[in-house]
Amino acid sequence: MAEYEYETHEYDVVVVGAGGAGLRATLGMAEQGLRTACISKVFPTRSHTVAAQGGIAASLGNMGPDSWQWHMYDTVKGSDWLGDTDAMEYLAREAPKAVYELEHYGVPFSRTEEGKIYQRPFGGHTTEFGEGPPVQRTCAAADRTGHAILHTLYGQSLKQKAEFYIEYFAIDLLMSEDGQCEGVLCWKLDDGTMHVFAAKMVVLATGGYGRAYFSATSAHTCTGDGGGMVARAGLPLQDMEFVQFHPTGIYGAGCLITEGARGEGGYLTNSEGERFMERYAPNYKDLAPRDYVSRCMTMEIREGRGVGANGDHIHLNLNHLPAEALAERLPGISESARIFAGVDVTKEPIPVIPTVHYNMGGVPTNYWGEVLNPTEKDPNAIVPGLMAVGEAGCASVHGANRLGSNSLIDLVVFGRAAAIRAGDVVDRAKAVPTPAKAAIDKAFDRFDGLRHANGGTPTAELRLEMQKTMQQDAAVFRTDETLKAGVEKMKGVAAKMDDLHVTDRSLVWNSDLMETLELDNLMPNALATIFGAEARKESRGAHAHEDYAERDDKTWRVHTISRVEGNKVDLSYRPVIEAPLTKEKEGGINLKKIAPKERTF
Ligand SMILES: Cc1cc2nc3c(=O)[nH]c(=O)nc-3n(C[C@H](O)[C@H](O)[C@H](O)COP(=O)(O)OP(=O)(O)OC[C@H]3O[C@@H](n4cnc5c(N)ncnc54)[C@H](O)[C@@H]3O)c2cc1C
Repeated sequence: MAEYEYETHEYDVVVVGAGGAGLRATLGMAEQGLRTACISKVFPTRSHTVAAQGGIAASLGNMGPDSWQWHMYDTVKGSDWLGDTDAMEYLAREAPKAVYELEHYGVPFSRTEEGKIYQRPFGGHTTEFGEGPPVQRTCAAADRTGHAILHTLYGQSLKQKAEFYIEYFAIDLLMSEDGQCEGVLCWKLDDGTMHVFAAKMVVLATGGYGRAYFSATSAHTCTGDGGGMVARAGLPLQDMEFVQFHPTGIYGAGCLITEGARGEGGYLTNSEGERFMERYAPNYKDLAPRDYVSRCMTMEIREGRGVGANGDHIHLNLNHLPAEALAERLPGISESARIFAGVDVTKEPIPVIPTVHYNMGGVPTNYWGEVLNPTEKDPNAIVPGLMAVGEAGCASVHGANRLGSNSLIDLVVFGRAAAIRAGDVVDRAKAVPTPAKAAIDKAFDRFDGLRHANGGTPTAELRLEMQKTMQQDAAVFRTDETLKAGVEKMKGVAAKMDDLHVTDRSLVWNSDLMETLELDNLMPNALATIFGAEARKESRGAHAHEDYAERDDKTWRVHTISRVEGNKVDLSYRPVIEAPLTKEKEGGINLKKIAPKERTF
């Protein structure tokens, strides 16, 4: 057994992650008077949320009529009817409040002439339950909205005296024998010391797992650590086969060009110079939802109308827009295009390609952020002491496909909801639990095993193999044949975890070991993704299956629940929640409005 010394810290609440979700939860918990610690493997304002450009959706109605019911309808349709209705209502209804709170906390939103929060159009956001014209619902701070939000929330959390543990790496959840979460084990990266954080409530806000793929817009730190920890605790992941590809990653580099670029009037063209989206989506054109635009782009490329020497990408045109508008509304992406594609956006089109952007799946939760461990008897059974929010969680509001600008609002609405809930359920007077010795030993054993891994495969090599397999066999286009082959390949890739080789055995700034822990987290996320995709015999949202072109609500309007152990994945299914929170006569949405129908644009 591995022997490590450790220091113990006690809190009411420990939040793992300091992105938008983690910071909004931390701030809310501290405001509730709960003793709160926030742990982050990177400095808080370096979390991936900082890169969010386009904005945050809320039906403020500053630029024309809007309502939360319309926002909810768009979210339901965007999810391709896989989202949970209660959570989607909560998101749309609470969004304006959450945005005004951000404004009052100090987020420097762009302004209209009258001084209101500026809102831009974004894909899939409409009026009149999809019958009316597009709406300007996405609140923006130029094209640096995530940056503005993250810095504001960090400042406010410090003001509320939340305690930060920065550059601490969370290794594993500490679960009691009867399945309660009692804390988390962490490694302090700069001095190699070990820390047990005991808590009445642990909140996972660890972000997505874009780095399971070869080309991703997300930061290299987006390695699904929360999903890894949850899988090792014997808990399930949900809807992992739904991976969003953003239509406009810069060809080659993967960096994102925000959908706001098309919101401001940009459009896509193929090798014939044709604005092909007009053909696929006569109404919404370039602002059809992301999964659909990505599919159309892939179709154009596959049919030989891609641009470039290899005909393998598409052009995004902004050069018809006034230079002043580009400088004012899209300064960040003008810079990215110059640096990463060598393109002057006022003169030339940007080369773009669909790139992994967002994980709809994650740790299943209810709309309070409480983690679920579905059983046959109770599909909504709660895991005591554990919450998950943000991209790491799956509430589920995005279902099979997330609308642009609906993630930032998810972070703050559910970060806030988790804090409200914890304020109710955490007993301040009760003693902090003492994490079970067996759980601590088990976590140290795994850590030590990886630290001394002495096989023949370097971490970077195995990671690349996983990323290439996922990119090839679990991307935009999926067939029975490629998915089946992909599952077999991924089983082989995951089995090689036993043959890893870690060169650096020290405990101080050991990036080799940290990347190995991250790979050990990415692997269950990747496995759940490809197994879930192989099993789902329909097309829905981001899961476009060439052999089953139609959505099949009779069989498949269910959440995939995956339990990963080693290189095996056990799949089961959980019903979608169809009941809204508010009845129609109390101001809620008319159920007929959100009944499943074909998704056309
Ligand atoms: C380039 C880009 C642009 C985007 N633009 C938009 C947009 O305009 N609008 C929109 O709505 N959405 C956008 N999105 C999506 C959205 O930004 C993300 O989904 C969201 O920021 C995720 O936030 P989060 O708080 O869940 O996680 P993150 O911001 O990824 O933060 C994760 C946190 O967890 C910590 N962490 C992770 N693992 C560990 C561990 N083992 N130990 C300790 N700490 C750990 C990290 O240090 C970090 O603090 C964009 C995404 C990208 C990649």
